[in-house]
Amino acid sequence: MYCHHWIDGQATATPAGKVVCVGRNYLDHIKELGNDIPEQALLFIKPASALCDMRQPLCIPTDRGECHNELEVALLIGSELSGCALTDSQVSNAIVGVGLGLDLTLRDVQSSLKSKGQPWERAKAFDNSCPLSPFMPMTESIDLNDLHFLLTINKQVRQQGHTALMMRDALSLVKEIASIFTLLPGDVVLTGTPKGVGPLLPEDEVDAELTGYLKVQTQVKARVKARVQP
Ligand code: ZN
Repeated sequence: MYCHHWIDGQATATPAGKVVCVGRNYLDHIKELGNDIPEQALLFIKPASALCDMRQPLCIPTDRGECHNELEVALLIGSELSGCALTDSQVSNAIVGVGLGLDLTLRDVQSSLKSKGQPWERAKAFDNSCPLSPFMPMTESIDLNDLHFLLTINKQVRQQGHTALMMRDALSLVKEIASIFTLLPGDVVLTGTPKGVGPLLPEDEVDAELTGYLKVQTQVKARVKARVQP
């Protein structure tokens, strides 16, 4: 059973909640997939059942087309945030941890859903679709608008991000999210992916880092399907 952890190995006091994600928050990634720039944040949710520990092997489905990496800065929510009248300090006080999340995406499934105008959950909310790193406790010295993050696959750089390039910064994004979905202790916000999405393959060696704060080494495994006995 997944639970959130701090980088010192302690489990956080908060339960594992929902994950609210933003699509198209980095211009380079919007261009990469040929999407339009959204007028309002493009939001979607992964349920708590999608969460897993990024330090464990990433078990991806291999029978539904390409499964893409999207490395994103993850914000851990520590107290309830709700409504349209939140101040910056209320929002920043509620963010108690920062780490990394992978928004694993079945890209072929998503493209087919998009073309039919259907919701994305089959492509983005499946079991294990949200591996999370341990979290750094939030302190005043961490500038959410100046975080660098890096994903390498088999030692080749796949994604390089800098939160200064987000179209909606962390505070505005969390504020906008909380005006629609109440955020509860243990919920996580994923802040969008920069360019460099691409297929993950079984046995890929994956290194994710939030530069200066944390590193995770992991590996991709094919999800073994349960066999029905004849
Ligand atoms: Zn994403």
